[in-house]
Amino acid sequence: MNTIQYKYVLLAFACLILFCFCLGAALFSPLLLIPGVFGLVGFYLVDKKYLRCPYCGRHNALDKLFIAKRRKFYCVHCWEQIIVE
Ligand SMILES: [Zn+2]
Repeated sequence: MNTIQYKYVLLAFACLILFCFCLGAALFSPLLLIPGVFGLVGFYLVDKKYLRCPYCGRHNALDKLFIAKRRKFYCVHCWEQIIVE
């Protein structure tokens, strides 16, 4: 199936937000870096497993995938159309 699930785009985005939030919060307490690392690892795994181009398997920017829900989007590497649903 040559589509990307939109929920995984949201999940990756949530992981990034968690990471950024923890990075900021770590200024006050270094212990908060630990959930931040989980967020980063989660983002990496989701990106690797679900957000790669179905045709060439390479990475596309997350913000582009966001927009792809509403308009046509072509992989920046192989120029095949990616459908996000
Ligand atoms: Zn591609």
